[in-house]
Amino acid sequence: MGLTSSNQFKFDNTYSKLPEHFFARLDPTPVQKPSLIKVNHLLARHLGLDPNFLETPAGTDVLVGNRVPEGAEPLAMAYSGHQFGGWVPQLGDGRAILLGEIIDSEGRRQDVHLKGAGRTPFSRNGDGRAWIGPILREYILSEAMAALQIPTTRALAVTTTGETVMREASFPGAVLARVASSHIRVGTFQLFSARQDVEALQLLSNHVIDRHYPEAKNSSNKYLALLEGVITRQAELIAKWMAVGFIHGVMNTDNMSISGETIDYGPCAFMDTYHPETTFSSIDRMGRYAYAKQPEMALWNLSRFASTILPLINPNEETAVKAATDRLNCFQENFDLVWSSTFRSKIGLLGHHDGDTGLAQDLLNCMAANKADFTLTFRRLCDLSTSKDTKKSNLDVSFTTLFKDQSAAEYWLVKWRARLRLEEQSELDRQTNMRAMNPTYIPRNHRVEEVIRAALREDFSPFEKLVDVLSLPFDDQPKKFDFQNPPQQSEIVLETFCGT
Ligand code: AMP
Ligand code: MG
Repeated sequence: MGLTSSNQFKFDNTYSKLPEHFFARLDPTPVQKPSLIKVNHLLARHLGLDPNFLETPAGTDVLVGNRVPEGAEPLAMAYSGHQFGGWVPQLGDGRAILLGEIIDSEGRRQDVHLKGAGRTPFSRNGDGRAWIGPILREYILSEAMAALQIPTTRALAVTTTGETVMREASFPGAVLARVASSHIRVGTFQLFSARQDVEALQLLSNHVIDRHYPEAKNSSNKYLALLEGVITRQAELIAKWMAVGFIHGVMNTDNMSISGETIDYGPCAFMDTYHPETTFSSIDRMGRYAYAKQPEMALWNLSRFASTILPLINPNEETAVKAATDRLNCFQENFDLVWSSTFRSKIGLLGHHDGDTGLAQDLLNCMAANKADFTLTFRRLCDLSTSKDTKKSNLDVSFTTLFKDQSAAEYWLVKWRARLRLEEQSELDRQTNMRAMNPTYIPRNHRVEEVIRAALREDFSPFEKLVDVLSLPFDDQPKKFDFQNPPQQSEIVLETFCGT
């Protein structure tokens, strides 16, 4: 592939073939002075793109929206949504442009999308832009999520625009080139449902089934199978978030991807000290999207989704409602299954015994009561994979010191070790398995803030360093131990702003 190749992107667009009222066609708005901050080389290659080309001025022009590559069919998607429970009939991509779809090296269809690419017909009062802070935050968190093996949109590149963006103050503007298996949301279905446009709902559902749930086609009722698929993936996703202490922060229906990927990293964060009621979002005063409320809120969103496809499930409303309700009633069970198997693995249990889930829950309760750090607690537990009582060992102490009342942690360890004696796996295997489940590096808030502060001084080295550390979250990386640590009292970040 040549460096000046203008047909680097082998677009194979399908969304743009849907009816015109699904979107608005328009090009990104060019920016004054693009400056490339980072290209994600591995992801670029995975997409069949030459990262060296993307780093040339011609490549950067594509990544920032100054040049529309051959084969792209740029558009802003239309959608609606419930924001914090309130219905908003018209949302849509107010500052994002979908360039088109490409097929990655595993044969999977991927959207290439530019966030912060200028105003669109859906911008309402917004400026269509983003500033460097939230763009770096999304890059860091989404790539960390991918490294943690949790379904997510990906970050392909960050470019600054040479323009300023007005928020609480004036900040440098930036564009994120984002990749997702699609950008279709629960809110996309809600748009057509609110307009009682059953034809559009059917086209959209068929598109989603082809793209994300092809197995539904073998079912006697493919729309019911679609609902089932969406519920299953969402239950799994939320359980996985919870297993790494992630709080999305704005689980509005327009921010819930139909494919089951984490999408729209706004005021989200990974918890330091564990508490189930933790929120970070400055706009979530009621705690609607608190850590432990996430399954309930996902089910709420899924119920909204189900209601949009009722006419497709069955022309008889009562029959459709009954069938959809039956499926929604399975959400909790799906979630509980993934939650308990994940948390059982986190505490090193392979076999199944009564009380295993309770044992994991007891640890969480003990952590909450004693203000223990979520990530360090599970990671240090990996060092204690022996079932022998070693109360006075340094390893035990390094675990119990994470708890305000160390004796509470010691008491839990006694119960845990008694349970480990029923296990058949070797201590070494247990330790290896636990380390693969319990990351040592997460994108801690204070680190992300540090990156953003440095970026405002045009120093992107902390960003590079953090992204690098987070690419191997399960490995103890020599000389990177600082990145494991929770914030000092003065570094604690209590809120993340939506100020996107
Ligand atoms: P969010 O809460 O970030 O998911 O955004 C909600 C809606 O507001 C979406 O339709 C966004 O496209 C839109 N939006 C957010 N920020 C801007 C902006 N700066 N300019 C235009 N639209 C925006
Ligand atoms: Mg959004």
